Amino acid sequence: MKKDEYCYMCGMQATSDEHVPARCFFPKDELYRKQLITVPSCFKHNEDTSLDDEYVRNAICAEYSGNHIAFVQFKNKAMKSLARNPMMLFPYKEFQSPKGPTAAFTIDRNRFDRVLRKIAYALFYDLYKKPWNRRLMIISRQLLYSDFSPDAVVGIIADLESKLPEVTKQGQNPLVFRSTILKSGDRDEDSIIRMVFYEGFTIWAMTEIGSSNYLL
Ligand SMILES: [Zn+2]
Repeated sequence: MKKDEYCYMCGMQATSDEHVPARCFFPKDELYRKQLITVPSCFKHNEDTSLDDEYVRNAICAEYSGNHIAFVQFKNKAMKSLARNPMMLFPYKEFQSPKGPTAAFTIDRNRFDRVLRKIAYALFYDLYKKPWNRRLMIISRQLLYSDFSPDAVVGIIADLESKLPEVTKQGQNPLVFRSTILKSGDRDEDSIIRMVFYEGFTIWAMTEIGSSNYLL
C-alpha cells in the first residue's frame, strides 16, 4: 500500500489493501489471478469477511450457469467448505413454477448482498478514487425475489445498458470475474455496475432511489 491512501468505504486513512473480489473466487492457478484488483482499506473496513466471501462464492458456483471454472470451483472448494462448516449449507426446496416442478436453494440475501455491495464500492473506488457514498441495491436475474419481479428490473437495466456510455471494463481474469461501470447521469455517483462471475452469473449494483446523501 502506498502512503497517504484512503479507505475505499469511508475515506479515512487506510491501513491495508484488500482484494476485490476476494481471492477465494479465483482458482489457485496463477493463470486466473492476473493483476487482481486491490483497494486501500481502513482498519474498520478491512474486517475479516472470509466466511461471507466463501458463502457467496459457493452460492454463485452452485448455480451452474457459469463456465467450467465455476463447476470446478464448486466441486473442489465449495464441497469442502460445506463439509467443514454446516452454516454454509443452503436450504433446498422444491416448488411449482409456471413451467412445471422445479427446485431452488435459499440463500441468505443479507449476507449475499453485503459481499456484493463491498465489491461494487471497491470497483467504484478503483475507478474514481473516492468512496461511492450511496446506498446500493443488488439485483440479478439469477436470484428470485419474494417482493418484486426481477425480470421487470433486469429488463429496465438491460434497456439502460444499451443506451448508456460505458466508462470502463475491468478485470484481467474475465473467465472468473469481469465488471463494467456505466454512467446513468452527470455525476460519477450515478453509476451502475455490472459484475459477471464465471461468464454466467450477472449481478447489478445500482444506487437506491433517494440515497443521494447517504454516508457510510
Ligand atoms: Zn473505512
